Amino acid sequence: MSDVHRHLIGGEWCSSSSAETIDVLDPATGSRIGMIPAGSGADADRAVSAARAAAPGWMRTDAAERGALLKTAARVLRDHADGLAEIQTRENGKPLADSLGGVEAGIGTIEQYAELGPLHRGRSLVGSWGASDMMVYEPYGVAAVIVPWNDPIAIACGGIAACLVTGNTVVFKPSEKTPLSAVRLVELVVEQLPTGVLNLLLGDGRAGAPLVEHHDVGVVMHTGSTQTGRRIAETCAGQLKKCVLELGGKDPLIVDSGVDPVWAAEQAATGAFANAGQICTSVERIYVHAEVAEPFVDALAERARSMRVGPGMDDGTEMGPLIDERQREVVHAHVSEAVERGAQVRAGGELPGGDGANGAPAHGFFYPPTVIVGAGDDTRLMREETFGPVAPVQVVESFDEAIERANATDYGLAATVLTESEEHAERAWRELSVGTVKVNAVFGGAPGGSAQPHGQSGMGYGYGPELLDEVTITKVVHVEAAVTPQHD
Ligand code: NAD
Repeated sequence: MSDVHRHLIGGEWCSSSSAETIDVLDPATGSRIGMIPAGSGADADRAVSAARAAAPGWMRTDAAERGALLKTAARVLRDHADGLAEIQTRENGKPLADSLGGVEAGIGTIEQYAELGPLHRGRSLVGSWGASDMMVYEPYGVAAVIVPWNDPIAIACGGIAACLVTGNTVVFKPSEKTPLSAVRLVELVVEQLPTGVLNLLLGDGRAGAPLVEHHDVGVVMHTGSTQTGRRIAETCAGQLKKCVLELGGKDPLIVDSGVDPVWAAEQAATGAFANAGQICTSVERIYVHAEVAEPFVDALAERARSMRVGPGMDDGTEMGPLIDERQREVVHAHVSEAVERGAQVRAGGELPGGDGANGAPAHGFFYPPTVIVGAGDDTRLMREETFGPVAPVQVVESFDEAIERANATDYGLAATVLTESEEHAERAWRELSVGTVKVNAVFGGAPGGSAQPHGQSGMGYGYGPELLDEVTITKVVHVEAAVTPQHD
């Protein structure tokens, strides 16, 4: 059992109280590259106790000192960014350059919160003469930071840094699918922090659920699927506990009449196939105006067919594998159902055979970039998060129709509109019921942008300066001078 990774609890790397283990797989080969314990309720208990013991000292540490320690941690991470990116690619399959981009984004976020934390001030109120009135932010105490596998280092860095810099101690629960990069991240960061301030709990939902339920956890920050998020929200509601939920999406892309169809197809391919479609804001539905539909679909299908699919560690790989076999089954089930019900496959759509589609090896969890036209509104492909490299295209007759169909979803994470019309751009950001609207670029945006997701895509601000408000609680203080005894 010596090759089973360990939890970090109260400064000690320790074994689990559960004998069960979880294999960590390389999605490019399907072979095992590590093992972690299936952390238990007892492990969650120990991790929360350690975080709770460290909380009073950390809360009383000057905010400037907390920020300075995080800056040191960020410097250490920068020195090891390449190694971290490599571990991340080995366990989640994304191309190495993308992986490094994610690691660097995470380090940048730690640096931002290290600066913003000490500036996260309350306000003074205008009360009676002789009294002092103010609103102050306090940490909740112990924060649970629960992270998914699709951009694990970037997401972990943001949540952990925001919670720590505001004076919370943290129990960090990475995804069971990408725990190896989390172990390395914690090894590098924890040396810079007082004992017990950052704890690592390994495992899946069997560790996550008792962590959320623990009475000494004051705030839960979960990034992951809507299904898990809903369960966490139910637990938190039962205890009136604060949770921030950044969940799944079914993002639409609207392609308006009058745009260059080849440019629009390139945007669509980037949005649907980056990270093999495993981004919360991946393009998952495309509504293209009839006027440009044919050349748009031709160019998109051509781009899908030419995309180089392979292991993330190989030079020249544009798209890696899916995270695991289960995810590949979901993706293929969405595609197959749509096709059985009359949709047309314009590229991909088949499980790689012996020769491996798009140059992908036959082993591993690869799926080809896929373009599907005409899937029905009631298919899973058009309704549920697919989280795979699939671009489902529907042709619409007007911009009004595109907006209406884009809004016909339970999700509300983000949306993109490609248009030359200023009026349509304005209508898009006003009328689309999502947290983030992008015009003429599927990805991008200024640093610090933080939206509140709509519908089933979550609640609260998961990013930006506003996250510091989410992981703290506001107290109002009113101070008057004591009445001193009267002496004659
Ligand atoms: P998931 O919800 O299955 O898992 C996320 C984390 O929750 C993991 O650490 C997992 O072990 C843990 N978990 C599972 N069951 C739990 C339970 N009952 N209680 C507590 N914790 C539990 O999600 P995933 O498959 O890892 O990630 C993919 C999903 O994440 C997609 O839906 C994607 O859209 C979403 N996502 C959202 C954002 C965003 O910012 N909105 C960012 C990245 C990913």
